[in-house]
Amino acid sequence: MTPKQYDTVIYNGHIETFDDNLNTAQMVAITNGRFSYVGDHSEELIKNAINSINIKGKTVLPGFIDLHTHLWTEADIIDIDLTEISTYKETLDKVEIAVKSKKPGEWVFFSGWDESFWLDKKEFPTLKDLDRISQDNPLYMKREDGHLVVVNSLALKQLPVSLEHKGVMKDDEGHPTGVLKDVWLNLTPYFQDLISESIKASCKIAASVGITAVVDNLTIVPEGQQNILKEYFELDMNDEIPIRVFLNPTRDLMEDHVKKGVHRNQGKNKIRYSGYKGFFDGALGSHTAMLSFEYADMGGKGDKFLDEAELASQVKFAEENECTLCIHAIGDQAIEKLLDCFEEGLTNAGNAFTKQKHRIEHAEMITDSQIVRANKLRIILSMQPNFLKWQYPGELYEQRLGRDRIYSLNRFNKILQLRANLSFGSDNMPLSPLYGIHQSVNFPSKDTQISVEEAIKAYTISNAVALSVEHELGNIMKGKYADLIILEESPFTINSSEIKGLKIEQTYVEGLCVYDGTSNPM
Ligand SMILES: [Zn+2]
Repeated sequence: MTPKQYDTVIYNGHIETFDDNLNTAQMVAITNGRFSYVGDHSEELIKNAINSINIKGKTVLPGFIDLHTHLWTEADIIDIDLTEISTYKETLDKVEIAVKSKKPGEWVFFSGWDESFWLDKKEFPTLKDLDRISQDNPLYMKREDGHLVVVNSLALKQLPVSLEHKGVMKDDEGHPTGVLKDVWLNLTPYFQDLISESIKASCKIAASVGITAVVDNLTIVPEGQQNILKEYFELDMNDEIPIRVFLNPTRDLMEDHVKKGVHRNQGKNKIRYSGYKGFFDGALGSHTAMLSFEYADMGGKGDKFLDEAELASQVKFAEENECTLCIHAIGDQAIEKLLDCFEEGLTNAGNAFTKQKHRIEHAEMITDSQIVRANKLRIILSMQPNFLKWQYPGELYEQRLGRDRIYSLNRFNKILQLRANLSFGSDNMPLSPLYGIHQSVNFPSKDTQISVEEAIKAYTISNAVALSVEHELGNIMKGKYADLIILEESPFTINSSEIKGLKIEQTYVEGLCVYDGTSNPM
């Protein structure tokens, strides 16, 4: 018997290839993890394949590439998820139940709460309430934006932070309120033995929502990051990572990595380095995004978290040493100043535009002139359509910025009209490309709303371009890695109001099924 030419063929599909001409196909063949055929139906190929899968007219898309996540903690292993809870009272009830299952002294971490969605009380949890729940377990509750944390008294006592730190909020009498704003600490010693389990479980969740490649921003302090990186590379050595993960350590590690010769393709198989993450400003929820005007609900214009001269010299260093900087900037003023830094650094490196594809993470309040500037410098706009949930009338952004300004954020359509690149990521809020595509297709403002096709591009091929891997990922073309998803229905034909509920039936990475709709084969 002659050996079969193809490992797998997937046939009878409605395959949206997202190649340059947006061709559709009925069949793909996969050999050694890559597409070896994309085109019309062929019985010959089926005969020549080890596995042949009839998908009965279902829709196939390229696997999603999520350009901004904090993947490794997505699973409820290290911290307990508090999103989707609609009241303050129920949130505290869930905290109380979680604490009861812990031994005295054990740390309990939570994340994802967002007071702006609570129906009974739109205020941060209080130290008093958390102390009532537990005096014996340190409690650490991270707000959904990740920049603000509420803790109880025991945690405040044990955390390695001075009460004089400017991020430790105090009341009028000078007592800590339990609120910590942009205080970054190494918490990994409290959950070291759970990290590898958390990474594996989080990768499985990503595969279940159609993500085949992802950027994981390790936004914790450098000592903590070393632990996470070590676990990631160990798992990769043992082939235990099912999807492709691009790691973004923080910019504090960049020079050290260059010195040690750490390169982008450091991993054995699925792990690579992408860029280095930094923060220019904070977030709108915690009034720390840096604006050119005063916040509507409490005055002040937000903060910046870095030294501009230092950042500009890092841009020069990055450009000269083949590193990418991914800098968080949300407020219009932060974006303006960040563009100044990029411009200065690039000029000093002798470049008119970036060859390393530096990114502005979020860029929510980017103005027309800033879009044009970013475009000229070829800076990637790494944006989060998920955040549109805060942008509806009456929601958080209206409270913070006033009604007149809510349509001036996240203007995806405007960005495309000005021919700037547009890249999407979920920021785990929630971890779901379909949710973000849904938001960007349905948001009722012409400057923001884009087509299904444009939204999918921003979650696939645009992100491959952003990561400089468009020769191997991002769409369904012969020679590229066979990363794809099979959907129950087509996002192009169903009512746009149903996109976020679309069922992902299977996810393939390099031709292997990593999610099959029920259990996970990996
Ligand atoms: Zn983030």
